[in-house]
Amino acid sequence: MHPEFSDEDIMALFEEKQTHEDIDKWIVCFDGASNALGHGVGAALVSPDDQCIPFTTRQGFDCTNNMTEYEACALGIQAAIDFDVKLLKVYGDSALVIRLLKGEWETRDPKLIPYQTQILKLAEFFDDISFHHIPREENQMADALATLASMFQLAPHGDLPYIEFRSQGRPAYCCAIEEERDGKPWYFDIKQYVENKEYPPGISDNDKRTLRRLATGFFVSGTILYKRNHNMTLLRCVDAKEANFMIEEIHEGSFGTHANGHGMARKILRVGYYWLNMESDCCAHVRKCHKCQA
Ligand SMILES: [Zn+2]
Repeated sequence: MHPEFSDEDIMALFEEKQTHEDIDKWIVCFDGASNALGHGVGAALVSPDDQCIPFTTRQGFDCTNNMTEYEACALGIQAAIDFDVKLLKVYGDSALVIRLLKGEWETRDPKLIPYQTQILKLAEFFDDISFHHIPREENQMADALATLASMFQLAPHGDLPYIEFRSQGRPAYCCAIEEERDGKPWYFDIKQYVENKEYPPGISDNDKRTLRRLATGFFVSGTILYKRNHNMTLLRCVDAKEANFMIEEIHEGSFGTHANGHGMARKILRVGYYWLNMESDCCAHVRKCHKCQA
């Protein structure tokens, strides 16, 4: 999972509860999910400057609802310890577990006693730790993470899928580079000519000449078409789908810097990819990016 993302809606829930003395405190929200597919737990660790770090674990053993709540709580508190957090507020929507952790109730459930002991031991790590009950509807982030974890079947070697979060600034229908006709990439005719000296059916002599001239800059190796760059490097030709992916990744992906269109096109050339109209596609993308207009 992507290690860090911020969610302003979730953060807003805590703002009203924040008092001045809480300003340096971290928050952890936890939740457990048990359903027909299995058991999962989720925790969201929130730093004082509102960075939210999600954690999920899937339980590979059978447990009760209250056990998954404790598992989730332990996951969140352990994450805070790993981040060397010293001041922590813990939020959960299980009234029972929160009451037990606050010492207001006692449990005789032999399944829960070891958890209770473990968490109170983890609590000793903190200079200040407090437990708070929140309604389910205010615990959506942890709930979503737990549900997500509960839905995936464990592979035999225990691996879970890697989930990537991406941010998209515009509706999907705005993202497509001009659609390719008849599902063929822009370089289809060039590649046909380079490989087989074949012209598209019915084109004029003039177009044939243009295609021949264009094709001299290209070269096929295996099934891949390359364009010879002026410095004799080879650029791999990509179709519209790959081009879109690259533009988004470079502009606003995990390491994106919202660079301008010309800079992006240069970067794509530098790493060895090419398509027609790279520069204008990159510039058009920047013009459609909300963040870049602000
Ligand atoms: Zn941008």
